[in-house]
Amino acid sequence: MPNEKSYHMSIEEFRRNGRAAIDWIADYYERIESFPVLSRVQPGEIRASLPAEAPMQGEQFESLLSDVEKLILPGITHWQSPNFFAFFPCNASAPAILGDLLSSGLGIQGMLWATSPAATELETHVLDWLVQMLALPEKFLSSATGGGVIQDSASSATLCAILAARERATGYASNKHGCKGDLIAYASPQAHSSIEKAVRIAGLGDQNLRHIEVDANLALRPEALAAQIALDRQAGKVPCIVCATVGTTSSNALDPLPQIGRIAREHGIWLHVDSAMAGTASLCPEFRYINEGLEFADSYCFNPHKWMFTNFDCDCFYVARRKELIDALSILPDYLRNKATESGAVIDYRDWQVPLGRRFRALKLWFVIRHYGVEGLRYHVRRHVALAQQLASWVQRDERFELAAPSPLNLVCFRHRAGDAFNEALLDALNRSGDLYVTHTKLHGRFIIRFCVGQTYTESRHVERAWERIGEEAAKLEARGGW
Ligand code: PLP
Repeated sequence: MPNEKSYHMSIEEFRRNGRAAIDWIADYYERIESFPVLSRVQPGEIRASLPAEAPMQGEQFESLLSDVEKLILPGITHWQSPNFFAFFPCNASAPAILGDLLSSGLGIQGMLWATSPAATELETHVLDWLVQMLALPEKFLSSATGGGVIQDSASSATLCAILAARERATGYASNKHGCKGDLIAYASPQAHSSIEKAVRIAGLGDQNLRHIEVDANLALRPEALAAQIALDRQAGKVPCIVCATVGTTSSNALDPLPQIGRIAREHGIWLHVDSAMAGTASLCPEFRYINEGLEFADSYCFNPHKWMFTNFDCDCFYVARRKELIDALSILPDYLRNKATESGAVIDYRDWQVPLGRRFRALKLWFVIRHYGVEGLRYHVRRHVALAQQLASWVQRDERFELAAPSPLNLVCFRHRAGDAFNEALLDALNRSGDLYVTHTKLHGRFIIRFCVGQTYTESRHVERAWERIGEEAAKLEARGGW
């Protein structure tokens, strides 16, 4: 403790305020269902409620907390509400929050093994656990040629995969001389927009991203991929990377990895598999079919911050040959040199990602896995899938509605038969009610409501009530007519 004059929060105050903050979070979870799920504020409303200038004198923690309640909560969309069925989830859990808190408390920056050996070694260890937990190919283990690393997001994982693929495809010349114009990336038009963004950042350029045709189930067609690769080769281009998706954002479509993988291998093209949300399902043996063909993958990612109860941010990114990733990203200035790095006996995760610095994210993931155990995680994943399947069966039984795509896991895409305008109005009415939050997409050119079950505390009563509310709002719109 400092003896000199200081403005710091004392340890005693920290202890007291920390308890108050935890109590506030606990109270928040207890009353979370009382808030409209989607925030109702207008643009600019939150800023208008804040003082124009920063305070000259420090304030009491109590007023900070009470302003969170008064000024911030109205502008929160409640992602942790059990009535949140929008986008893909971004679920959290008590052990993850506490793990993250300890990580903040330790306040380390784990860019190098030497800057906190436990951060690196725990991360390597937990990512190896996950290879076994998800039954991923053994080449992704750190004891084999590959290994895993925590990225902030699937977008960063994809970017790293593209950078490594680019260097491999050009004999590590792109880093030296800049990216020349002929490197081609392949993905389905249903792939996440982060692939498009990564293709831009990596310097391949929009014109070199080939969107390969999909089949009736919105999965990439391998024959179309093979044909496009042949065309590109004939034209003197260099096929560089195929990004396949297991569980697309719009509809949870599963690209056929075995066929795509064989094509990629035949042509020596990097295969990256993005399983950002759906990957968690392979905790359960009955859903592991989604990973068939992963043996062909050069890299793979999934997000515990979506569906594995680990609060944002946490993406697990695996490579089959870590050397390729490190060779693409490593730069070692003098000020980062140290004996451990030079010994070659340690992992320095700064070489596995875009930023230099990194948080101690493995702690929250470790807490989650140890709190739930594999069985506990499986239980909740199975519950979510069962609840989504239940909803899909209700949709199928109601002649006013139809399913818009297969629902292999926890996402249900459906629409009212009355057409796009009706479905837009229905979505709007549901979200305005505050009772639940759902989002939309377009599939086969039509407006579709997406309903994803994956929030930590969602139970059958929430899905039942949501379906009831969907029926009620649809009935009101039907009565209004004019569709
Ligand atoms: N890939 C898929 C299939 C996604 O659904 C998403 C987000 O929903 C992403 C990538 C991007 O995720 P992140 O926010 O982790 O970059």
